[in-house]
Amino acid sequence: MLVTLREVLKIAEEKNIAAGAFNAANLESLQAVIGAAEELNLPVILQFAQCHEPWIPLKLIGPVMVRAAKEASVPVCVHLDHGETLDYLEEALELGFTGIMYDGSVLPYEENLENTKKAVAMAKKFGASVEAELGSMGKRESGAGDADGDDTKIYTDPQQAKAFVEASGIDALACSFGTTHGIYLSAPKLDFNVVRQVRAVTNAIPVVMHGGSGVSREDYHEAIRAGVRKINYFTYMDKAGGSAAETYLKGLKAEEPVFFSSISMAARDAMKENVKAAMRMFALDNMT
Ligand SMILES: [Zn+2]
Repeated sequence: MLVTLREVLKIAEEKNIAAGAFNAANLESLQAVIGAAEELNLPVILQFAQCHEPWIPLKLIGPVMVRAAKEASVPVCVHLDHGETLDYLEEALELGFTGIMYDGSVLPYEENLENTKKAVAMAKKFGASVEAELGSMGKRESGAGDADGDDTKIYTDPQQAKAFVEASGIDALACSFGTTHGIYLSAPKLDFNVVRQVRAVTNAIPVVMHGGSGVSREDYHEAIRAGVRKINYFTYMDKAGGSAAETYLKGLKAEEPVFFSSISMAARDAMKENVKAAMRMFALDNMT
């Protein structure tokens, strides 16, 4: 069933877990995510990032995502990830998305706040929820940026977060506390105090962890205990699909024909298993 981001986060808050948020940048990952959530009977966030537009346009995959969410047996939020312009956010809302992230993290604070307020007002008309971001994770969602991102990371300032959350009326805040988008070149060092302090001064706003694939089990659990309620996970699921396709191809005999649909299914099944493992770490391991 299609639900809002706020509703998924409420379930996560009540159970002291984090909801997994997985990018559906193709039909294989979309099926993998819904299939995993249904098998584990957990709510899930299916999302699409603006930077994936060259892979498939939002107006093409968006309606499929909404339809898949409506038909799912578990609560599914369809969320726009890293929306960079208000026009793009509106396009997602018109397609029926129930959550949007406005990413103004590269802008000066005041401009980020003003645009986030506009995003909140717009989402309200559609009954949708809003995530925004403060601080910088270095590398962008697309993976562009500094080699390991550390030089350009700016951790979220809890006092600034308090003012931002109160002034904007957002439903969730993406915080920078040591994670990085894309592949980790060295083990991340996470500062959980940022999350704890943000929660303490904001009446426990649900905190979102970006760059959430490639983090250790212990760090996921510590982050969830600190107040992370949404974990964005994509890169390692995408990698699992790629590895499965590679294994499938290597297993073919020289004279066997290569069918794309077989590669696609091998990738889909591997991504589903990878998503299930992530969802177990974010939820079932921790459930109180
Ligand atoms: Zn992100």
